[in-house]
Amino acid sequence: MQVYIEPIGRLINEFTKLPGVGAKTAQRYAYKVVNMTEEEAKNFAESILDAKRKVHYCKICGNFSEGEICEICKNRTAETICVVKEPKDCVAIEKLAEFNGVYHVLHGTISPLNGVGPSDIRIRELLERIKAGGVKEIILATNPDVEGEATAMYISGLIKPLGIKVTRLASGISIGTDLEYADEVTLARAFVDRKPM
Ligand code: ZN
Repeated sequence: MQVYIEPIGRLINEFTKLPGVGAKTAQRYAYKVVNMTEEEAKNFAESILDAKRKVHYCKICGNFSEGEICEICKNRTAETICVVKEPKDCVAIEKLAEFNGVYHVLHGTISPLNGVGPSDIRIRELLERIKAGGVKEIILATNPDVEGEATAMYISGLIKPLGIKVTRLASGISIGTDLEYADEVTLARAFVDRKPM
């Protein structure tokens, strides 16, 4: 028996594709959409398409960008590069207003168990940026979990021989916590107290 009429069933199905949205929440979201005005529903749908059309990855750092090069890469010098796993980590660090350098988004961490090797994340691109010159420090800000640590160790091993200062966020963020969930005071302290690797 079909519980929902087709358009509602379809909408619920779409919402369940979002992270953390189960069947009940998806149903609540779908009913909310059905009760929106035509205008509200149009804005909602258009914002999804707009984000999809306009958001790209910055050619230099790999963070989200509207243009080919993001505003951070355009406006800051690349003397210090903060290496993170995902674009959302840049947001967590930008919120601290503590960092004036640029980012490098790896889009993943090394994870042999999941079949992710060094060549599957943006390590080669990081080395190219360093070879282009002018970089004085690389801050490894991958998450303090097993994969994040392994990735930091691997990158450090590649970069240190090039004579560039490599630092790692100080401990204080509990093991297994994503950067985005670390509280701002803890993250800011980890940043200021970063240690040479
Ligand atoms: Zn950029």
